[in-house]
Amino acid sequence: MRLSRYFLPVMKDTPAEAQIVSHRLMLRAGLIRQMSSGIYAWLPLGHKVLQKISAIVSDEMAKAGAVELLMPTLQSADLWRESGRYDAYGEEMLRITDRHDRDMLFGPTNEEMITDIVRQELKSYKDLPLNLFHIQWKFRDEIRPRFGVMRGREFLMKDAYSFDLDFDASRLAYNKMFVAYLRMFDRMGLQAIPMRADTGPIGGDLSHEFIVLADTGESEVFLHKGLVEEPVPTEIDYEGDLTSIINSKTNRYAATDEIHDAAKFEAEVDEADRVTARGIEVGHIFHFGTKYSEPMNAKVQGPNGELIPLQMGSYGVGISRLLGAIVEASHDDDGIIWPEAVAPYQVGLISLRPKDETVSAACDDAYAKLTALGVDTLYDDRDERPGAKFATMDLIGLPWQMTIGPKGIEKGVVELKRRATGEKQELPLDKALELIAG
Ligand code: ATP
Ligand code: MG
Repeated sequence: MRLSRYFLPVMKDTPAEAQIVSHRLMLRAGLIRQMSSGIYAWLPLGHKVLQKISAIVSDEMAKAGAVELLMPTLQSADLWRESGRYDAYGEEMLRITDRHDRDMLFGPTNEEMITDIVRQELKSYKDLPLNLFHIQWKFRDEIRPRFGVMRGREFLMKDAYSFDLDFDASRLAYNKMFVAYLRMFDRMGLQAIPMRADTGPIGGDLSHEFIVLADTGESEVFLHKGLVEEPVPTEIDYEGDLTSIINSKTNRYAATDEIHDAAKFEAEVDEADRVTARGIEVGHIFHFGTKYSEPMNAKVQGPNGELIPLQMGSYGVGISRLLGAIVEASHDDDGIIWPEAVAPYQVGLISLRPKDETVSAACDDAYAKLTALGVDTLYDDRDERPGAKFATMDLIGLPWQMTIGPKGIEKGVVELKRRATGEKQELPLDKALELIAG
């Protein structure tokens, strides 16, 4: 992509309304703009990161056996009356009336809708297990939207729903999601620690939050130091036994302020191993059994012909919140440092003298070769001062910067910079391409 034809409105000054670094950087790097309180437009660069994160989440969900669909944002209030949550949900639910005076709502989550879909189609225990997910905008009329996309009113969520015949099968579905979450956050360059959690208004008896440690996080967390260093297994056999992975992540103390038990923390964890920190909730998984299937009459025929209510779980990931969490975890004074897997472009190509024909020809050649190698490149071909170009590239945080100017061309080299370390080297174009394409 040529920057001269792109839309990248960067800001030099620190926006006054942003209290935390990720919000400041997301505004400055031209990723988002606020349209009204807690509601954001995703500008091209931000949209690209959103898509990268969504793709990783979808991929890991599919590997764990979940199947993607897409449900609407607007829902009928009647469904929520069936489950009893229409009144229980309170002020956070955005309620809408259509022209025929029918009560509608902008979905804050989709348990009722997915239960409605499957109850009409699932007939027999032979149709199970089933796990369906979608990535869709949610609306929650948060009393205090803040920190940019971290606590928005409109936000993008991945939500999955599992359906099983009995508790053991449902527990297995939960464990698969647990492990898929470890994998997906790890791929995004994040360390997310699973913690026992309250089940809140969704209800149920088994729940974990996945928390990214960050000083600006909204939750206070208490955990065993060892959990911070625990590696994530790279190869996972979802048909195999997942309990050892789950145990290594859950048999040491880890809890958020909501569920934290000080006496238990002190009894279980040596003083030297105790970590008290702040964190961002990026995912939340629940097992809630028949909480929705009973009142909504979602049943299948068991092996002996009897009708059995479905055992369910739900599994959320805050896709738009993840951008904020990743930026909190990965930045420096100059700007964002995107982990490779979620970076909007892999390389920023900087032309030092776009008006000079030789330089332009060398840059166009490098751009064509990068593109041919499948390396997504943002090519700064604008007629701008080099200093401003470097500052923009550092701010938007692409993993590599390649700079081409008249001096380098004379020596037969380009300059390659690694954004994460600041390390620079001069080398011939073909060597640079080898390094980047790795
Ligand atoms: P929180 O405790 O932060 O309010 P929650 O427990 O209400 O979140 P869930 O119902 O568990 O949220 O939703 C699943 C995921 O959606 C959360 O783990 C979080 O990552 C994301 N999420 C929830 N609310 C918001 C919001 N207002 N803005 C952005 N992401 C959100
Ligand atoms: Mg939650």
